[in-house]
Amino acid sequence: MWMRRWGKLSSWPPCPVAALSTLITLLIGAGIVAAFLTESRRQALNASQHELAAISRSAGGVTQRALATLDLVVTIAAEEFRQGHIRLDEVFPWLHAYASSDKQLRALDDAILITPDGRTAQATSGAAIGVDLSDRDYVRHHQEHPGTRMFIGRPVNARTHPKGWVVPLSWPLRGPDGVLAGIFGVAVEWKLYADIFSGLLLRPDQRLILIDKAGNVYARDAMHWPDRTLPPERPLWLDEWLARPSPHSVTSSFVVAASAVPGTDLQVVAAHRIDDILQDWWHQACGAAGAVGVVALGAGLLSWWRQRQSMALRQALRAAEAARVEAERSELAKGQFLASMSHEIRTPMTGVLGMTELLANEPLTSRQQEVLRAIRSSGQHLLHIINDILDFSRLEAGEVPLEQVDFSLVKLLEDVRALMLPQATERGLVLTIDLDEYSPPVVRGDPTRLQQVLINLIGNGLKFTSHGGVRVFVRCGATQGGIVPFRFEVRDTGIGIPEENRRNLFQAFTQADQTITRRFGGTGLGLAISQRLVTAMGGEIGVTSQPGKGSTFFFEIRLPIGSILIPSKSSRVPSSLSLRPLRILVADDVALNRDLLQVSLEQNGHRVLLAENGEQAVALVSQDSFDVVLMDVQMPVMDGVEATRRIRMLPPPARRLPIVALTANVMEAEQQRCLAAGMNRVLTKPIDWDRLFDTLAAVTEAAAATSEPANPVAASEPRQLAALLDRQRIDRLRKTAGPTKLEQFLTDAMTSARALAAEVERLQDDPEAVVQPAHRLAGTAPSFGLLRIGILARAIEQAATDGQKLDEMIAQLQQAVRDTQAELAAAEVTGKRTI
Ligand code: ADP
Repeated sequence: MWMRRWGKLSSWPPCPVAALSTLITLLIGAGIVAAFLTESRRQALNASQHELAAISRSAGGVTQRALATLDLVVTIAAEEFRQGHIRLDEVFPWLHAYASSDKQLRALDDAILITPDGRTAQATSGAAIGVDLSDRDYVRHHQEHPGTRMFIGRPVNARTHPKGWVVPLSWPLRGPDGVLAGIFGVAVEWKLYADIFSGLLLRPDQRLILIDKAGNVYARDAMHWPDRTLPPERPLWLDEWLARPSPHSVTSSFVVAASAVPGTDLQVVAAHRIDDILQDWWHQACGAAGAVGVVALGAGLLSWWRQRQSMALRQALRAAEAARVEAERSELAKGQFLASMSHEIRTPMTGVLGMTELLANEPLTSRQQEVLRAIRSSGQHLLHIINDILDFSRLEAGEVPLEQVDFSLVKLLEDVRALMLPQATERGLVLTIDLDEYSPPVVRGDPTRLQQVLINLIGNGLKFTSHGGVRVFVRCGATQGGIVPFRFEVRDTGIGIPEENRRNLFQAFTQADQTITRRFGGTGLGLAISQRLVTAMGGEIGVTSQPGKGSTFFFEIRLPIGSILIPSKSSRVPSSLSLRPLRILVADDVALNRDLLQVSLEQNGHRVLLAENGEQAVALVSQDSFDVVLMDVQMPVMDGVEATRRIRMLPPPARRLPIVALTANVMEAEQQRCLAAGMNRVLTKPIDWDRLFDTLAAVTEAAAATSEPANPVAASEPRQLAALLDRQRIDRLRKTAGPTKLEQFLTDAMTSARALAAEVERLQDDPEAVVQPAHRLAGTAPSFGLLRIGILARAIEQAATDGQKLDEMIAQLQQAVRDTQAELAAAEVTGKRTI
């Protein structure tokens, strides 16, 4: 894998960025190094020139001192002769005596006295006498220039001297009359200077050379004058230097400095080859160039490596992006497939289920009923799965926009409880809901989706719990900028979830434990749907659990506070039932509440009387006749519960008067207390007008059914009966719980209705025993929109309590169950449920 990748990468074309960065580094480095080297070269040459100038000055000084001593001694001798203190022939011995006393005067050992016409007269080295030297330049010079003192001749191969090459120094000897009496000459072996010059040089490759004005070479340092029997070699650079105007300068290959020998035409020239001077510099330059090269190469390599890395990264990113797009595409395709398949399967499935329900109403053998139950249960399970998939697909595709409406949290929780209570009761479990007392009455959000999440979580809690029950806690934090943070907790006392199974719990199609699927069924979509809904609401969902002890599913969302009066278009329109004008007694201690109820009810055609407490309410009920009482619970003087008890002790018809509690308390215990005192229904504040009118319709219908036993609603007069179904309620239920749950609720409600109706029928000869199943049926059926069943069950309950005849009403109830079943099935069979 790695090799493959490397192979791919190494086959890339040479990276232009790397080359460019190498070039740039190279140029910058070379620029800096060149500037540095130029300066250091200039400094090296300058230093050398100063050194050479110092050397040439010392050499000039040494030469001048040697000549000056010689000149001084000879001049003294010449003066002695001129003044007649010594004779001409005594000059020689006189000087000879000096020569032995001073090393610098050893040249006098090779002295010669020449006559004015140029012939040797005396010589110290045993040279021949009488030799004609009149052609020598110094002889001619003294003959022609009487004013000259010491004359330095050009080096010659001395005819009179055994040493060969010498430089002749000569002085005129003039008598007292100033006439030239002779020439005194010495042959100086300049090679003596070779060693002196060598001693002055600081480096072996430096050079010193003594020349005259005309450029004749007199002496050189020993190193560069190896054979001193020959005249010193004239170096090539000398001519180039002599052609230059400045005495200190640099030729093409040498640095040169010169100093004149004072009192003579001679000068000492010091030189140093540039290549030798710059030897160290060259090392430096090579080192620097190498360093620049290495740095540039390093920079190039680095940028090539980084380029390679970033290309590899880009390739990986491209691959990841392609994979993501592909995954999204396949996810979308999967979602679309699931959605369309689910839809396609759902249509025939509803048909199958509808037919099953119809079949259930036919006379069947017990074996056939068993088979039918199995078909129904499998069908419902399948439909449940399909509906979950549809819902999930829509959520995934973002096709579920969230609503933003004001709603009462109290009412929402009540509805949830009413929906889930039958399931809990059936399993012998408790279901309680505890809302924070500081919760705002109205909040803004999507009540339908919030309810869906709660139903999912509570449903799971009930499903996985066999003892105890499910408790829902709703807590809110401090309001900030009109927004309240809520935490919803659904705690159960069920099987719990081991830690390793909790991780993927909110992923689609995930079951905590496969064995659970077999035991409890389920699609594994409920939590995934809940999670997506909570996330869409801007919240978070989570779970804590202790296996064997129970689980707590929680979610936190933030909801803005809504406006206190929930607008409802139905507040001025009576519910779907045609609600006849009623005489209503409103008992409430808060004037504002009384006004609100009075106005709203009167606007809908009812007559309203008002009581400020329970006592007034009891008094009014005993004096006047009403269709219904709307009773506040908390009131001064006498509360609603006590007032209800008293009303129920009044003689008929007042004792049968429907009483609906209106309370701000959502607690289950409070509601039970109201019902136990004899109230027919409990509604919570703030008032949900739809619900209030529904309730008024339900309780007054039921009262009418029981108060007119002489004229019971006959099967032949179905129009006088309440509608079979409360379509508005069923619609709300569909929105709240979704189509899947609705199907399940309706099926469960019908199963329960059938069972309870059968129970009522079985117990009809024992009115006391009938009260309990009738009460249960009257309590659950209306919650699921089974309106007629609910009303008849309530009537039976009332009649049984009053000890009235029941058989007629029970027959009506059985008929209502069948009719309702048929109507539901018909709606399903078409596949276009209109309820
Ligand atoms: P399903 O529709 O199958 O119940 P969910 O997504 O609602 O799917 O739940 C997924 C799994 O999470 C369940 O099958 C179960 O294993 C586990 N689970 C969910 N809620 C609970 C609970 N309250 N107690 C124990 N296990 C639970």
